[in-house]
Amino acid sequence: MRIIYLDGQFIPENEASISVFDRGYLFADSVYEVVSVIGGKLVDYAGHMGRLERSLSEMSIARILTEAQWLEILRTLIARNDLNEGLIYLQVSRGNPGDRSFYWPGADTRPTILAFTQMMALLDNPASMAGLSVVTLPDLRWGRADIKTTQLLYASMMKMEAKAAGADDAWLVRDDRITEGTSQNAHIVNADGVLVSHQLDRKILHGITRAAMLSLAGGLNISFEERPFSLAEAKAAREAFVTSASTFVMPVTRINGAAIGDGTPGPVATALRQAYIDWAWDNAI
Ligand code: PMP
Repeated sequence: MRIIYLDGQFIPENEASISVFDRGYLFADSVYEVVSVIGGKLVDYAGHMGRLERSLSEMSIARILTEAQWLEILRTLIARNDLNEGLIYLQVSRGNPGDRSFYWPGADTRPTILAFTQMMALLDNPASMAGLSVVTLPDLRWGRADIKTTQLLYASMMKMEAKAAGADDAWLVRDDRITEGTSQNAHIVNADGVLVSHQLDRKILHGITRAAMLSLAGGLNISFEERPFSLAEAKAAREAFVTSASTFVMPVTRINGAAIGDGTPGPVATALRQAYIDWAWDNAI
């Protein structure tokens, strides 16, 4: 039985309960992070904590745990669940005001804090050999995709649509430009050999894996541009790939059924995946 963390306690998952009035439940009024774990250690912990703080601040949710307290909680979860490889999910909701109201409660309502582990093979992921197939679908999400809230219904709907279309996932399109994947950042190596990745603004989640990947690309002398790209540019690209905490760097080999490059994972995505994994091993804490 998995041991989870809820509001100060480490308890078996079947003993955890949250109020029906919790705003995370009624309004998706909560933010979250997913941190990967390899060799029992947290990958890019500082990056995820930095983004959590930003999400909390954008949503005006009180920050009640310090980074050191979080670290202690996550490490305890890893140890209690014997987690070698997988993910830690953590969520902070605005809490339970004791009734339903659109208005945010006062400071006496304490945020609800939840964290749990998920076992998953991240390093030897067969999809990294074959590459993913994606279909493009409209990006009809709200205009604050940069805040990592648990309001994930649209992403979930688009994953279902992609699955129904026989694809692995979807890339979202707004104003004729690809913003990002349903749960990954999207990148291409265009026909000129330049890595192109949507710039950080309110249209995309500021991926922690994306940031690390771009800094590794710099170190490998891979030239990159942060700007939006169109479906046409993506289809004509040499390579395409996604980044996220659960996929690391993952090649995309088909877009809307058409092969990208020769239809197999390309050299840049392959080199960046390896560089990311090496960096993750060296820097996990
Ligand atoms: N974009 C979206 C919409 C996501 O949900 C995620 C992962 N949660 C990402 C990008 C990738 O972010 P990260 O690298 O921090 O996991």
